Amino acid sequence: MSVTRFAPSPSGLLHLGHALAAHVAWEAAQSDGGTFLLRIEDIDVTRCKPEYETMLKEDLRWLGFTWPEPVRRQTEHLGAYAAALERLKERGLVYPCFCTRAMLQRELAGVLNAPHGPEGPLYPGTCRSLSAGEREDRLDAGEAPSWRLDTGHAAKEAGPLTWRDRNHGSFTAAPELLGDVILARKGIATSYHLSVVVDDAAQGVTLVTRGEDLLPCTHIHRLLQALLCLPVPGWAHHRLMLDDEGRRLAKRHDALSLRALREAGRTPGGIRAMIQ
Ligand code: GLU
Repeated sequence: MSVTRFAPSPSGLLHLGHALAAHVAWEAAQSDGGTFLLRIEDIDVTRCKPEYETMLKEDLRWLGFTWPEPVRRQTEHLGAYAAALERLKERGLVYPCFCTRAMLQRELAGVLNAPHGPEGPLYPGTCRSLSAGEREDRLDAGEAPSWRLDTGHAAKEAGPLTWRDRNHGSFTAAPELLGDVILARKGIATSYHLSVVVDDAAQGVTLVTRGEDLLPCTHIHRLLQALLCLPVPGWAHHRLMLDDEGRRLAKRHDALSLRALREAGRTPGGIRAMIQ
């Protein structure tokens, strides 16, 4: 029996892409008598709003989805993420990074052929080589760092890892694809990557369904699961809903929000037909 989850961020209106993601998670749970969970990924406190959470639940109920309450809301579990980060700190697998976005842009502008990942240039590793003394001085001086995974070192510690996707087959984990990702942002001591692996384990998720755009992240998640001794789920990365120009649906497509479609007279069955 699978435990699946749909994990939207309440930072805008749900659109057809979300309906597809929820549908895939729901169907996977239904197919073997499992459980579909809703999780609210609200760590980006500048963009997430309670009214979007209210609206997304209304939209999902309208489409016929049900889920156990209470739902897990990430901002209510910051202690769990901090504890996971602490374990990585103790083992020297993360390091504080003092770079700002502007500093990184300047640094990367001067580099020819900087290595790129799926989301742009990889972090060049500037703060990885700071000495222990320098780190301490800057922390003592009150500089607020983000914390990055020392991915090369961590991958060596963990040894070779594999993971399996229902739609794409077996993979050897290649966390270096994303480089030294941020595990804890300045200001909020966690990140998408860290929260997701902690939550999936805490909620007993056995099958992670999500869009193919997040496939590269799974290499990092698999590594974090190994480092934190968490159970390893299965994965099913699914196709994305695209607009007429082949672009992934996003917040800019408000005309395709479930709310706008409902107001324009579409029914839940009509929405299901649109995502087939
Ligand atoms: N909050 C993420 C999103 O909206 C979910 C990613 C995941 O399922 O791991 O894309």
